[in-house]
Amino acid sequence: MKEVVIIGGGAAGLAAAIACYDAGLKDILVIERSQFLGGILNQCIHNGFGLHTFKEELTGPEYASRFIKEVERREIKALTSSMVIDLEPHRVTYVNSTEGVNTIETKAIILAMGCRERPRGALNIPGFRPAGIFSAGTAQRLMNIEGYLVGKRVVILGSGDIGLIMARRMTLEGAKVLAVAELMPYSGGLKRNIVQCLDDFNIPLLLSHTVVNIEGKERVEAVTIAKVDSSRKPIKGTEKRFECDTLLLSVGLLPENELSKKAGLTLSPVTGGPIVDNSFSAGDGIFACGNVLHVHDLVDYVSEEAALAGSQAAKYVKEGFKEKEYIKVSTGFGVRYTVPQYIQKGCEDVMLRFRVTDIFKGSSIVISSKGNVLKKIKRQVMSPGEMESVKLNFKADEDILVEVVNE
Ligand SMILES: Cc1cc2nc3c(=O)[nH]c(=O)nc-3n(C[C@H](O)[C@H](O)[C@H](O)COP(=O)(O)OP(=O)(O)OC[C@H]3O[C@@H](n4cnc5c(N)ncnc54)[C@H](O)[C@@H]3O)c2cc1C
Repeated sequence: MKEVVIIGGGAAGLAAAIACYDAGLKDILVIERSQFLGGILNQCIHNGFGLHTFKEELTGPEYASRFIKEVERREIKALTSSMVIDLEPHRVTYVNSTEGVNTIETKAIILAMGCRERPRGALNIPGFRPAGIFSAGTAQRLMNIEGYLVGKRVVILGSGDIGLIMARRMTLEGAKVLAVAELMPYSGGLKRNIVQCLDDFNIPLLLSHTVVNIEGKERVEAVTIAKVDSSRKPIKGTEKRFECDTLLLSVGLLPENELSKKAGLTLSPVTGGPIVDNSFSAGDGIFACGNVLHVHDLVDYVSEEAALAGSQAAKYVKEGFKEKEYIKVSTGFGVRYTVPQYIQKGCEDVMLRFRVTDIFKGSSIVISSKGNVLKKIKRQVMSPGEMESVKLNFKADEDILVEVVNE
């Protein structure tokens, strides 16, 4: 019987493993399906990682290597090239080429499987299915790890961070990025990425636009985009045709939760991740952190959250299950979701993370309970592309409501 099994060896899994060890657990196993630890960070060769954690601008692989070294220094066991295929509370089944299918028992499980890209199929773009259409993350992997230039004249649909980063990356490799089209009236990515990846390279960002046609049978030949109205329907007469050989899709990320479903966890319909309390427990000795819980903008927050999940999982292993009372965190105007969704009654200093539904300027985040305002924070700008964090520096005794108030 293991003390804790961590599924996924990306930023979240590594930080959780280190925290479990530092909290006194020694029989820890990290299971990672790819050949190397580090997760998505391995293909993010741009800088901008770790500003909060290390006060330095690291590349993704540099950031990951700092955590991998800490895992190795503690001699935490990591099984790479091994994929978890089934999950029940306290039982993990994985497969690899040396052991075949193996099931192990464990006192606790930490889910750290990250997320995957929303596929094109979900978007119903008319046209054939020619070569030259990639999700932005796949293109990033092909360029940065396999060494292929995936196209020379490129249109990008969606302005999530991966799309923005790829606009710059492809330009630096000699491709011409003609435009980034975004369905929403605001970008889904970080402001700093719009400035550094589009503005600095004169790449136009066309807000409230979508792809309405893809031409080409064997390979993409052209893409037509059009402006959309407030109900996101294309407006006739606004079409623009771009001759290109590549369309990159950066249209959102989905937490990787097939295993969470198998384990019978309740998933949030908004985040797509498990519903958790402030110890990141999803119930039955299963904890969750990182992008499998909710999609993060910055890796620093992933590491911070995962370290907390790891220390709480260790506490659970050492002390066993304890019945607790909870308060509920509800969302009001302007707030899409919060993590955690529940807080143990009487807890203090809980960090609440959430995303807003729209761009808000000069508005406040208000946290209240039964109409009494417990905390109010003024923000100059809030946007759905950036995660908000608020520390609840009061004792949580009653259900709370988090909302945006325009003033
Ligand atoms: C293109 C891009 C650019 C970014 N840029 C920045 C930036 O500039 N600055 C910044 O701070 N952050 C950035 N981020 C965000 C940050 O890097 C991520 O949020 C963070 O690395 C996610 O860590 P994770 O461990 O949750 O997920 P991942 O890194 O995805 O790790 C999950 C791991 O789980 C493994 N796994 C999944 N399923 C299984 C299974 N069944 N069995 C075994 N293993 C499994 C996967 O192989 C993977 O290694 C960027 C992200 C992307 C994608």
